[in-house]
Amino acid sequence: MEKLHIIGGGMAGSEAAWQAAEAGVPVVLHEMRPAVGTFAHRTGDFAEMVCSNSFRSDDDERNAVGLLHWEMRAANGLIMAMAEHHKLPAGGALAVDRDAFSAAVSERLRAHPLIEFAPGEIAELPESGQWIIATGPLTSGALAKAIQAETGAESLAFFDAIAPIVYAESIDMSVAWRQSRYDKGETEEEQKAYINCPMNREQYEAFIDALLAAEKTEFREGETAGYFDGCLPIEVMAERGRETLRFGPMKPIGLTNPHRPEEKAWAVVQLRRDNALGTLYNIVGFQTKMKYGAQTAVFKMIPGLQDASFARLGGIHRNTFLNSPSLLDQQMRLKSKPHIRFAGQVTGVEGYVESAAMGLLAGRMAAAQIKGQDLPPPPPETAMGALITHITGGAEAKTFQPMNVNFGLFPPIDAKGGRRGRKDRYKAYTDRAKEAFTAWLG
Ligand code: FAD
Repeated sequence: MEKLHIIGGGMAGSEAAWQAAEAGVPVVLHEMRPAVGTFAHRTGDFAEMVCSNSFRSDDDERNAVGLLHWEMRAANGLIMAMAEHHKLPAGGALAVDRDAFSAAVSERLRAHPLIEFAPGEIAELPESGQWIIATGPLTSGALAKAIQAETGAESLAFFDAIAPIVYAESIDMSVAWRQSRYDKGETEEEQKAYINCPMNREQYEAFIDALLAAEKTEFREGETAGYFDGCLPIEVMAERGRETLRFGPMKPIGLTNPHRPEEKAWAVVQLRRDNALGTLYNIVGFQTKMKYGAQTAVFKMIPGLQDASFARLGGIHRNTFLNSPSLLDQQMRLKSKPHIRFAGQVTGVEGYVESAAMGLLAGRMAAAQIKGQDLPPPPPETAMGALITHITGGAEAKTFQPMNVNFGLFPPIDAKGGRRGRKDRYKAYTDRAKEAFTAWLG
């Protein structure tokens, strides 16, 4: 049988190798560590956790990442099984003894009769065979260059500059309103593409004070601050002058507040639709290095966002990732070279669990293809399906930034029925997902 080659033995590559081998397909796993390192990895083990030792919430009834745990366990996931073996007390979270966890993943992979190992860095795109590239946020420079030569410079990013993302339903529309600047656009939908939150002078001044005072995270050693003027953190813009934001991303021109048409706003915060479903909105130009706690406090000062729920907070990190919505097909194959799949964080998902989950899918899909079978992606009602749908077409390609799993990516529940409490609604999402995932597995 044809062999499946996987580049990168991180969260995604390890899970992909396991899934394909368990499906009976021989695997060659290429890993550059320990001969070639990264600034974040410390060992030569597979599935090394580079920072936190947590796989986040393990609540599979009311939490989207907990649901992803459930789906991975249901699909015989190696990462979840080894996490379970080495878990530490951590309340509702799944935290592990990181060294024991990676050692156990490595041991299981090494003991598998269908997995062989090819140590060393891969620096070129393979021309033939079946491949999965799972080289992660710190993909080596040579391979990144080769990917960029294939996809175009614009389609591979080296930093993420993430603006916070808000659940649309949590925005107070009695304060905010929908309008594109100068009502631009051909259709009504385009003319109302943005959600606007107005500030008077006092609110703006207080907001700038809070931005300047907020706690920030520093870049780590080796993670050079390579951000450029086009995506400066908002607090850096505020440091350049108190009026900079008012003449930048918070400029009020071309916008009229229908709730108070007689009042000219001093500044306006704009939110732009982030997914095809219209359930998520990002705050335009608000990429930031503020600490998470500070972000929530500061962003809730924005009128209309006082009760906002955040699908993800902002950040700027060293992160190599593809513009997947424009480059990958629904099987995670590179459209221009379909013998190559991508998996893990390099596809624009974010986090250990999400990366491993995309490895799980890529491994299963590649194995099915090698065996002459057809494995469709899981339905979008499932956590894995919601993620793969998002990265392979659900997200806006123009503004694509890495994403954690969250219920905003799922087709909404209760579109017609009455409002349920949030907890009941999340339970309804996870019940629906489990049923759909079980059917998909079957
Ligand atoms: P990785 O786990 O990084 O695996 C990629 C593998 O590919 C590595 O082993 C690497 O050595 C190998 N490789 C790279 N290039 C080549 C090549 N050319 N040839 C052969 N092998 C290659 N996520 C969280 O959930 N929690 C956190 O606390 C967290 N902290 C992070 C901190 C930092 C500094 C970074 C960079 C990321 C962090 N992340 C965190 C994100 C985390 O890296 C990913 O979620 C996860 O590890 C990605 O899995 P992956 O398999 O895609 O990549």
